[in-house]
Amino acid sequence: MAAEPDLRAHPGLLATAAVRKIAPYVPGKPIEELERELGLRDIIKLASNENPYGASPRALAAMRRAVDRIGFYPDGSGHELKSKLAAHHGVQRAQITLGNGSNDALVLIAEAFLTPDTDAVVSQYAFAVYPIAVQATGATLKVVPALPASHAVMPLGHDLAAMRAAVCARTRLVFLANPNNPTGTYASAAELEAFIASMPASTLVVLDEAYFEYGRSLQLQDGVMWLAKFPNLIVTRTFAKAYGLAGARVGYALSHPEVADALNRVRQSFNVSSPALAAASAALEDLAHVERAVAVAVAERARVSQRLADLGAPTVPSGGNFLLAHFGPRAAAINDRLLHAGIIVRPVGNYGLPEHLRITLGTPAQNDRLLAELACLLPAAMRA
Ligand SMILES: *Cc1c(COP(=O)(O)O)cnc(C)c1O
Repeated sequence: MAAEPDLRAHPGLLATAAVRKIAPYVPGKPIEELERELGLRDIIKLASNENPYGASPRALAAMRRAVDRIGFYPDGSGHELKSKLAAHHGVQRAQITLGNGSNDALVLIAEAFLTPDTDAVVSQYAFAVYPIAVQATGATLKVVPALPASHAVMPLGHDLAAMRAAVCARTRLVFLANPNNPTGTYASAAELEAFIASMPASTLVVLDEAYFEYGRSLQLQDGVMWLAKFPNLIVTRTFAKAYGLAGARVGYALSHPEVADALNRVRQSFNVSSPALAAASAALEDLAHVERAVAVAVAERARVSQRLADLGAPTVPSGGNFLLAHFGPRAAAINDRLLHAGIIVRPVGNYGLPEHLRITLGTPAQNDRLLAELACLLPAAMRA
C-alpha cells in the first residue's frame, strides 16, 4: 500500500485536485525586479500592454483626493462609476458588475456559472486567466486548436467554427478575447456576431474587450451593442489598458441584468478600492487622453510591425497595443539580451509559443530604442 502523504511537510496537498493542476499565471517582469537583478537604470517595460503615457491627470488628481478619505470603506455599490458607465455605454446600471480589474470579473463569471459537471471552451493561445478561472471551479477546460501559423488571413487566430463545434449541452461558458492576448489576432464583427448567434441558450459567451479601444481602426465589434439582442452575452472591459490605470485594478462586465445579479452575489462587497473607483470615474471625463494614446499606438503598430518584418521577425496581425513577433529558436536568447539592454518584453513560452516574443507598443522613442537594439542583435543572432 502506498504510504500516506506527509501532510505536515506538504500541506499544499490539501488544496483541491483541480487547483493543484493549475499552471500559475506568469506576469511580466516588473521594472524594479530588473533594476535589482542587473543594476540597470532607464529600463523600459514593453511587457504588460500598459499605456506608456499612463492615466489622465484628472484620474490621478481624483485618486489623490480619494486617498484623503482612505479610512472609510469604498462605496460597495460603485454608484458613481456605474452611473457614468451606464451613460457612457447606454446600458442600465443593473447590467454592470464592477471588478478588481476585469480579471476579477472573469473569475466571478467562472464562479457563478461553472461546476465540475460543466465545461468551458477556449481557444489555444487564449488569455491565460481563462484556464485559471475555469480550472479553479473543477469544471473541464476544452482547448480548441487555433488556426495554423500558415493561415493566409489570421495565423494563430481563433478557429470560430471549431470552437462552435466544441460547444455541447454541458458547455456553460465560452471565453473569447477579440482582439486576443497574447496574439493580438481578431475576428471580424460579422464573424463574431454569427458565432454568438449560433450559441445555444445554455451557453454564455464571454467576449473580453480589453483592447476594444485599439480595435476601432479595424472596424472591430462593439459587443455592448449586441447585449440587447443576446441575453447569453457578457462583455468585459478594463481601465488597465487604454485608460492607463493598470495599477489601480478596475474593470467591469456588462450583461443581462439577471447575469449581473448572479455575478454580484459572488462578488466581494468591497472588491474595488475607493481610489480606483474615483480614478475610473474621472478617467471617463477625459476620453481625449485615451484617444491620443490610442492614436499613437495604432500608428506605431503599423510602423513597428513593418520594421520587425524587415529585421526578420514577422508579426501576426494585431488589433491590440502589442505585437507578437516570431524570432525563431533564438527567442529566449534575444529576450535575455534585451533584458541586459534594459528592455523588458514578454516571453510567451507559457502559452506554447517559445519562438515568439510579445512586445507592447511604447512611445515612439521607446519603440525606436527597442528597434535599434534588435537591429544590433538580430544579424548576430542569425549568424550564430
Ligand atoms: C490585460 C487583459 C485583461 C485586463 O486585465 P485587468 O484585470 O483588467 O487588468 C483582460 N483580458 C485580456 C485579454 C487582457 O489582455
